[in-house]
Amino acid sequence: MAARVGNAPRAVRVAYAVLGALLLAYFASLIVRGPGQSVTLVDGWLVAAFEVVASVLCISRAFGSRRRAIPLLLGLGVLSWSIGDALLTFESAGGATPPVPSLADLFWLGFYPIVYVALVLLMRKHLSNLGAATWLDGAVAGLGAAGVCASFAFNTILHSVGGSAATATVATDLAYPIGDVLLLILAVGGTALIPGKKNPQWLMLAGAVAINAIGDTFNLFASSGSTSHLGTIFNGIAWPSSILLISISVWMRPGQFNPLAERRTPGFLLPGLGAGAGLAILLVDTVQRVTPVAIGLATATLVTVGIRLGLSVRGLRSLTEIRHRQAITDELTGLGNRRQLFSLLNAFFADHADPETIDRHLSLLYVDLDHFKEINDSFGHGAGDELLRQLGPRLTSSLRDTDVLVRVGGDELAVLIMDADSRYATGVAERLMAKLEEPFVLNAVTVRIGASIGIASAPTDATDSVGLLRCADLAMYRAKVGPEAFETYRRDIDDDGNRLRLVEELRDAVEGGQFQVHYQPQVDLQTGEVTAVEALLRWPHPRLGMVPPLDFIPLAEEAGLMQALTAFVLERAVSQCAAWHAGGRPLTVSVNISATNLLDPGFSDSVKAVLGRHHLPASALVLEITETTILRDFDVCKRVIVQLRDLGLGVSIDDFGAGFTSLAYLGSLAVSELKLDRAFLTRLATGDTERNSALVRATIALGHKLNMRVVAEGIEDPEALDLLTSLGCDLGQGYFISHPMPAQDLVLPAPRLMLVPNTDKAAAG
Ligand code: C2E
Ligand code: MG
Ligand code: MG
Repeated sequence: MAARVGNAPRAVRVAYAVLGALLLAYFASLIVRGPGQSVTLVDGWLVAAFEVVASVLCISRAFGSRRRAIPLLLGLGVLSWSIGDALLTFESAGGATPPVPSLADLFWLGFYPIVYVALVLLMRKHLSNLGAATWLDGAVAGLGAAGVCASFAFNTILHSVGGSAATATVATDLAYPIGDVLLLILAVGGTALIPGKKNPQWLMLAGAVAINAIGDTFNLFASSGSTSHLGTIFNGIAWPSSILLISISVWMRPGQFNPLAERRTPGFLLPGLGAGAGLAILLVDTVQRVTPVAIGLATATLVTVGIRLGLSVRGLRSLTEIRHRQAITDELTGLGNRRQLFSLLNAFFADHADPETIDRHLSLLYVDLDHFKEINDSFGHGAGDELLRQLGPRLTSSLRDTDVLVRVGGDELAVLIMDADSRYATGVAERLMAKLEEPFVLNAVTVRIGASIGIASAPTDATDSVGLLRCADLAMYRAKVGPEAFETYRRDIDDDGNRLRLVEELRDAVEGGQFQVHYQPQVDLQTGEVTAVEALLRWPHPRLGMVPPLDFIPLAEEAGLMQALTAFVLERAVSQCAAWHAGGRPLTVSVNISATNLLDPGFSDSVKAVLGRHHLPASALVLEITETTILRDFDVCKRVIVQLRDLGLGVSIDDFGAGFTSLAYLGSLAVSELKLDRAFLTRLATGDTERNSALVRATIALGHKLNMRVVAEGIEDPEALDLLTSLGCDLGQGYFISHPMPAQDLVLPAPRLMLVPNTDKAAAG
């Protein structure tokens, strides 16, 4: 407790320690003394002095404290009682019997209203925003406890005064139990409402009031003649203890407020006990007469329980409604949310299975705001939120009452239109676009946004909610990349839509560098040694698995991502090759480049920079350009090839012989390598083998004549390997030698005899 009354000055703490010790000594003296052995000096004057000191300490708390009223009132209340005790001692000096009511009664009874007000103030301080139901819980607990107390106190008092006493005497004697009962109602009720652990001050006060009530009841027993030693002890010690507790309570530190702590709802124990007590009193009354005051309190308890139940049922119903509304509402905009959209769509499709409602149809508009991210980035999320909040009122003004606008998430909205034709749906899209294009005034700035809208209809386009949303989303994507602000879903755009989505994903993957580079060895056909590797790009896609390069490279070209993609492969391949060189494997690495790279004026500089960064000799790098690329942009290619060759690196014509090859151009290109397409090998294995062999032999010879190294790709079996070796081809590459694979998985076979077919790597494409 010393720790708890930590904000009391030292002198005050010492004073309480002395008072505590005195109280214990008094308690001991009461036990030692027999019943009826009262000592006026101790039981009268000293007890009164003890109480006055405790009261003064209590009042002194009011000074220097911001919340003066409560300690002041509590202090005055207990002081009033202490003066009553002193007056009684004075009035009964020399064995005189004071009259009833006496001056002492006036001060004693003064205690009740003052402390009552203090308790109410304290409760209000702690229970600022409680609902009616919680207050009723407190009332049930308090009334029940008071009922029990009253059934003892009033019974005793009525027995003791009998019917002959003067009205003033009866009134005075009744005033005490009434005062106690009222205080007890507050104390127990408050304890049921205020979470105890957080409020030691309240618990101490409630305990003090309870001791009073019990002490007074003992007192009544004593005055009705049924005195026991225990009763005398309790009667003597109750009031000084209670006053000391009240006095200490004002110095206690209130519980710390912790916003993170879970808000506990007050327990049901005390209200439950209160209700049980009320019921018990009424039951006991059927067997043995209980005082009407207790009956009244018990009845009040049960009536309050009834009202409380009624409130609970009503509260539960409105809570269910609120929860439901919250679940389907977007918090920021107050519009419906994704859950509401799905619940409406699901209801529509479930209903549509019913032949009676088969005629009904629905349109879904999927709206995606343009430039929303920029607004968030430039003006802060507050501005973005404000814009979203303005959307609801603005857009709903162009909808019918039956059309539903929801926020699907982020900057995406949807409008659900029931039973309207496609003309109406496109009309809505037009009106929404017009509304969205009007400027938005956000605090200090005015911004403009646009939107892309996709329209899909059910049951024509889809027969379930997810499908319909997908169609509207695809149409929206198309609108986003196309010239129109809104698009209606058509079956033929489905593929397009997927492609567009893939472009978006590709863009993210390029930004995030989410690619891998695999390497396929090239073997020197004369020595059987691996002297080179070709770097091949791989895209591990979260949904589609490992996407082969031919499926995404054309997309990357279209989306202008080829430069970034080639830069990625070059960086990886050159750094890997440098690592091999450092590890004593002087391999050459071939990297495929595309037409876009050749048209980029800074390309050769960037290649030089990569080589420099990784300290790799230019001779270790070969850039592969497909024959079709060269033929398409011959003059540019010719010039860039010269630049690249000047850097000292090799340039290869990839897929040579796959298309309509024109041998005429070969002589004028500064290329260092000719890479025979797989089509050559296929031809070798089929048709007129003799003629085809002659063709391959002549091509290889031509390459050699032009100082080119000749590489054969697509070697899938030992026969092809042997044939190409015998035809004088320099290097061989193909699944028979090794699939493309990550650098760390690559086994670089040295002697030719060790070449064994590799196990098929599914991912290696
Ligand atoms: P490419 O440059 O002609 O690469 C050879 C392709 O043939 C690779 O396919 C390789 O896995 C495959 N291949 C290798 N040995 C065999 C074999 O024995 N049999 C068969 N059937 N195929 C074999 P991949 O990796 O799917 O690459 C396809 C094409 O994608 C490449 O053809 C190249 O034109 C392009 N590509 C790959 N990576 C890049 C890159 O980083 N940049 C650019 N611009 N294009 C790349
Ligand atoms: Mg290649
Ligand atoms: Mg090729």
